[in-house]
Amino acid sequence: MGCPVKALVFTAPGQVELLDVPEPDPAPGEALVEVRAAGICGSELHGARRPGFRQPPLIMGHEFAGTGAGGEAVVVNPILSCGRCAECRRGLRHVCREREIIGVHRAGGFAERVAVPASALRPLPPGLPWEAAALIEPAANAVHAWNQAGRALGADGAKGARVAVIGCGAIGLLCAATALSGGAGRVEVTDLSPARLAAAQRLGAEVADPGLSGGYDVVIDAVGSAATRAASVAHQRPGGVAVWLGLAGEEAGFDGNALIRSEKRVLGSFAYRDEEFAQAMARIQDWDLTWAVGYPLDAAAEIFTGLMNGGLDPLKALLRP
Ligand SMILES: [Zn+2]
Ligand SMILES: [Zn+2]
Repeated sequence: MGCPVKALVFTAPGQVELLDVPEPDPAPGEALVEVRAAGICGSELHGARRPGFRQPPLIMGHEFAGTGAGGEAVVVNPILSCGRCAECRRGLRHVCREREIIGVHRAGGFAERVAVPASALRPLPPGLPWEAAALIEPAANAVHAWNQAGRALGADGAKGARVAVIGCGAIGLLCAATALSGGAGRVEVTDLSPARLAAAQRLGAEVADPGLSGGYDVVIDAVGSAATRAASVAHQRPGGVAVWLGLAGEEAGFDGNALIRSEKRVLGSFAYRDEEFAQAMARIQDWDLTWAVGYPLDAAAEIFTGLMNGGLDPLKALLRP
């Protein structure tokens, strides 16, 4: 029996509390991670307000890095898969039919220490700052979205592409950075927040002014409202592609007939393949990440609640136990 650990616990709809919880006890095949940085994800703010997959009591946190039992620096790939279903056998374990996610279906990284399956650990490159390490998971989502577009447009289809990114939260920013480092010719972004647009410009994107102008090869929707989904279809060129990874709402709200007549395409993008997680780790070292802000775990409940209720707006908050 170790001493209790501090953890941010989702205790009831709309409520999180910093609590002392029992020291995690790794089962066979599991490893204990001492968490050094854990990103708060928009999906968690949404999930805490309206519990769906995440049910209280739960320690959330699926974007985190820390040190393993031997003191080695590791990042956690939180996607757990069965290894047996048809998707797993095709190499698409991120859409496994029995998929579970660390921090969603079991305790995650909003704690001083957490036990995770040892198979989820990935060694970190030496010298990578903890803040950047905690952004590998969201960056892997962006790499996957970009690769989804590339697979749809053909071998060199994404090279030189004119790309629009709707929404400059962390995921949108990482999508813009990924497209630029993946060979896009031009990346235009939209958002309501000047601070977010400025962060996108520091990454090399242009602000779409006065708004999206149509004819993009690729439109990435990092918001997921009916309006942004409709815009992603309306502003792609005939035969172009929209990639959806924002999850703000369930409605789609676009003109299906226009999609048919111009052979437009919409692709869902969820999580990442294992190799894309590795690609994200390699790429993140080159990007401006000054828009991510670290906070001590002691401030976690206040930060999470502020973000959830909209009173607080750091672009990306990272907890630093
Ligand atoms: Zn996330
Ligand atoms: Zn499976």
